[in-house]
Amino acid sequence: MDLCDTPEEAEFRARLGEWLAEVLPTLPARPAPDDWPGRRAYDLGWQRMLHDAGYAGVHWDASPTLRMVFLEETEKAGAPYVGANFVGLLHAGPTIAAEGTAGQRARWLPPILRGEQVWCQGFSEPDAGSDLASLRTRARRDGDAYVVTGSKIWTSHAEVADWCELLVRTDPDAPRHRGLTWLALRMDADGVTVRPLRTLAGSAEFAEVFLDEVRVPVADRVGEENDGWRVTMVTLSFERGTAFVGEVVACRRVLGELARTARRNGRWDDPALRRRLGRLDAEFRALWRLTQWNVSEAEASGGVPGVGGSVFKLRYSHARQELYDAAAEVLGADALDLDRPWVLDRLSALSYTIAAGTSQIQRTIVAERILGLPRGR
Ligand SMILES: Cc1cc2nc3c(=O)[nH]c(=O)nc-3n(C[C@H](O)[C@H](O)[C@H](O)COP(=O)(O)OP(=O)(O)OC[C@H]3O[C@@H](n4cnc5c(N)ncnc54)[C@H](O)[C@@H]3O)c2cc1C
Repeated sequence: MDLCDTPEEAEFRARLGEWLAEVLPTLPARPAPDDWPGRRAYDLGWQRMLHDAGYAGVHWDASPTLRMVFLEETEKAGAPYVGANFVGLLHAGPTIAAEGTAGQRARWLPPILRGEQVWCQGFSEPDAGSDLASLRTRARRDGDAYVVTGSKIWTSHAEVADWCELLVRTDPDAPRHRGLTWLALRMDADGVTVRPLRTLAGSAEFAEVFLDEVRVPVADRVGEENDGWRVTMVTLSFERGTAFVGEVVACRRVLGELARTARRNGRWDDPALRRRLGRLDAEFRALWRLTQWNVSEAEASGGVPGVGGSVFKLRYSHARQELYDAAAEVLGADALDLDRPWVLDRLSALSYTIAAGTSQIQRTIVAERILGLPRGR
């Protein structure tokens, strides 16, 4: 693996940097954290600008290394986060690109790239989180449609989503992992009810989704009937392996801001804090290198990230929590004030060791599939 830019990468980096310097000052003000319609419009608007400038497909069409350059430069410049486009761009879209038919790719991918449609993920259920294969939402075949009944929970961005990557049980008699199917569900279909859930930080970023006899055309199935577990593993490998990597650069930016704040408010004089920030800097540098390694591996094996994504996700989610704990130390009593920088981020960091598969589950994957330790019962 060569970590230096090729001439093509250096040229891409320079061109992107110039474009960002030109357009970022023209962006409208960011909407309030709980203004989800406003956030949807803002995030889709940014995606449309990327599209019009020729950068929209960088997550999919460009080589993984160019994609890393893109993430690095956009984060460094303080460009908007992928936001409501997270599922569509970073794991539903890549899954459709890898597993969908030519017709499905032509139908669903361009609107994601043009910033016209938001996707959400309907995998978890009240009794099926870590043990996803125990899910009970049922889809029964009726002519050219599936009739879906059940409920999903923790569905991020469901309130503002147009489509949902939905995992359902199509064969209740098959072994648990073999009776599942991956469907694309229209969120405005009859029988879909979304009930927002409020988080500790006060935001309704996810929801419960109730499905009552919802008809989903068979044509909207990705992969074969009852092969949904395999398709889901592709989705999760994108979600754990590559979806969070841009955030590593953002964390390094926050770390720099923390150090500057600590210098201003006198906390920099504490050698223990300086050591802590230095260790975190080393952590995030190492995570970035690990990401580059994972991406090179994916590039060599057809584009779908491998099990190394679990190593990244495990360490990154904890390092992010340590970063925001350090932020609380720098802020002192201000860390209790929700209007201060980083305080909401600190609360949301708590969710990182749960979302996209908990740390315990990632450890099991690492133990069994990388270290080759015996399987648990
Ligand atoms: C911010 C956020 C956003 C989310 N967004 C979505 C979304 O958009 N779509 C979606 O479908 N889901 C989403 N989720 C749900 C997420 O995938 C689940 O919360 C996660 O998989 C854990 O499931 P659970 O909450 O049911 O916990 P449980 O599975 O009940 O786990 C409870 C505890 O038991 C531990 N545990 C469980 N099984 C084992 C085991 N075999 N070995 C060791 N320990 C174990 C877990 O690690 C955890 O500590 C989101 C979650 C969060 C926090």
